[in-house]
Amino acid sequence: MKDLLLLFRRFIPPYKFRLAKSVLFNLLHAVFGLFAISMLVPILEILFGGNVGAEVEETSFKMDVEGLKQLFNYHMSRIYQEQGAGVTLLLVGLVAVIATALKTGFAYLAAHEMIYIRNGVVRDIRRDLYAKILSLPLPFFSEERKGDIIARATGDVQEVEISVMSSLEMLFQSPILILVTLVGMFIFSWELTLFVIILLPLVGLLIGKIGKNLKRHSREGQDKMGELLSTMEETLSGLRVIKAFNASKQMNERFSRENEAYRRVQNRLMRRRSLAHPLSEFLGTVIIVIILWYGGTLIINGTGSLTGPMFITYIGIFYTIINPAKNLTNAFYSVRKGLAAMDRVDDILRAESSVPEPEHPLRISDFSRAIEYDRVSFSYNGLARVLDEVSLVIPAGKTVALVGPSGSGKTTFVDLLPRFHDVSGGEIRVDGINIKNLSTRDLRELMGNVNQEPILFNDTIYNNIAFGRENATREEVEQAARVANAHEFIMQTECGYDTLIGDRGGKLSGGQRQRLSIARAVLKNPPIMILDEATSALDTGSEKLVQEALDNLMRNRTSIVIAHRLSTIRSADLICVFNEGRVVEQGTHGELIARDGLYAKLHAMQGF
Ligand code: ADP
Repeated sequence: MKDLLLLFRRFIPPYKFRLAKSVLFNLLHAVFGLFAISMLVPILEILFGGNVGAEVEETSFKMDVEGLKQLFNYHMSRIYQEQGAGVTLLLVGLVAVIATALKTGFAYLAAHEMIYIRNGVVRDIRRDLYAKILSLPLPFFSEERKGDIIARATGDVQEVEISVMSSLEMLFQSPILILVTLVGMFIFSWELTLFVIILLPLVGLLIGKIGKNLKRHSREGQDKMGELLSTMEETLSGLRVIKAFNASKQMNERFSRENEAYRRVQNRLMRRRSLAHPLSEFLGTVIIVIILWYGGTLIINGTGSLTGPMFITYIGIFYTIINPAKNLTNAFYSVRKGLAAMDRVDDILRAESSVPEPEHPLRISDFSRAIEYDRVSFSYNGLARVLDEVSLVIPAGKTVALVGPSGSGKTTFVDLLPRFHDVSGGEIRVDGINIKNLSTRDLRELMGNVNQEPILFNDTIYNNIAFGRENATREEVEQAARVANAHEFIMQTECGYDTLIGDRGGKLSGGQRQRLSIARAVLKNPPIMILDEATSALDTGSEKLVQEALDNLMRNRTSIVIAHRLSTIRSADLICVFNEGRVVEQGTHGELIARDGLYAKLHAMQGF
């Protein structure tokens, strides 16, 4: 339950005012409920000709329960004497109806407040989770984790919503109901209530024990079912072998064994389960009888202030405790399930960023001198080095092409610059400043990205180009589209710039998607451009348009290009050849061909 308190402390504060209102309404709900039932006393007294008719003096009025009772009795007896039993009954009934109306009204108001808290908290958890996912560095989201993260962000949050949040109402309502009812019972008869309070935990213990037993058996049943299913699955996928090896009999025996075990566990479970209900009914009756006996002796012996009608009402009140008590235990049980899910959600919420923001970030708004990689090493898992002491200086305004076999570390190399990951060794400097000391936002503001696989969102063409630039004007967006050779095809789409492009741009061709992502980079107009050339086969016409767009984009900028087709980078100022995490050659196209090394070899291979 400590976890539950922690959960409340984190997420409830914005709703504390509503929570306070809900608690107050619940309190009123309980008080009026108690009052409504208490009306049974005068009704019973009238029916059984009790002491209603007896003259009750109008004593000095005291503002306490006893005083109120006397006041009520005084007026009751007067009405009884003046108007007769029928009218009095009707009046008492009316009071009970009004009290019940108030009781249910307050119950509704309490639930009403709870709805806002419940949905609000779940929204907040989702919001925090989404914000966290946006802030975590890329390595957190390896392919195999993506599914898991989605499962946590959807399924687990929903589980929290269903179990914790729906129990919230019970957790705040039931204790109040129980408490108020207990207070009421004390007012009716403290002797009897003391007796009940000693009796109840004993019964609770007994019922709890049966419940626990049931849970253990149902877990056992689930495990057995799991075994059964896995045998079934194994059989289906291995049918060919089972038949070929004549093992049907063997498999059949194994399945029968498991099937039989499952039947036995289920038998036991169901026997106990069907025992639970009669047992609790029996125990309930025994308790009532014990209370009847004890209360009865109190009345007969004349000890205490209990009267017959009061005693019967007392039993009625006692019954109203049972429901909230049941709800409370159920709530605790389901909260436990929900907290396990919350734990899984918390794994993400508590994940530490491996790319920490500097405490006192240095600001940078322009790039004018050079990017320097200084003996940079990197490893994804702490073991294999993907980059091994790579040093490279990229002067401002130059175009640097990275080439090399697949898996040689080119993508990793460029991902380090915007700090998608942090270097494991060495450092990267932009205009002489270690990028770890720069504000990440400033650093990324200096760079544009065009990826191999253009990343587009299910939105209009316009918004996809203006992505990340909220204040872009229509002219700027169109201008960027023109530079990226995209304006013409955009105008041919159904609604021009307002055309929705579908999930991930599914309604566009590969080349068109490329040009949109180039237009986006053109619009951002950063001094540094990081390009991962498309390898996906574009048709020749489309490829020419994309290449032109890229050339336009790189003009007057510092560009780092991961090149897959060497023909496109002949004019690069510097070509770096990567192999197994190192830069093994660098120079211009002419120099590298003359050197007759790896580049020359790659070049010759692509020539064919
Ligand atoms: P390139 O861009 O030259 O094809 P990469 O930088 O993508 O090379 O990959 C370099 C090496 O790092 C490869 O061996 C690859 O398997 C590994 N690698 C890439 N991304 C990850 C990752 N997220 N986790 C672990 N290893 C990775």
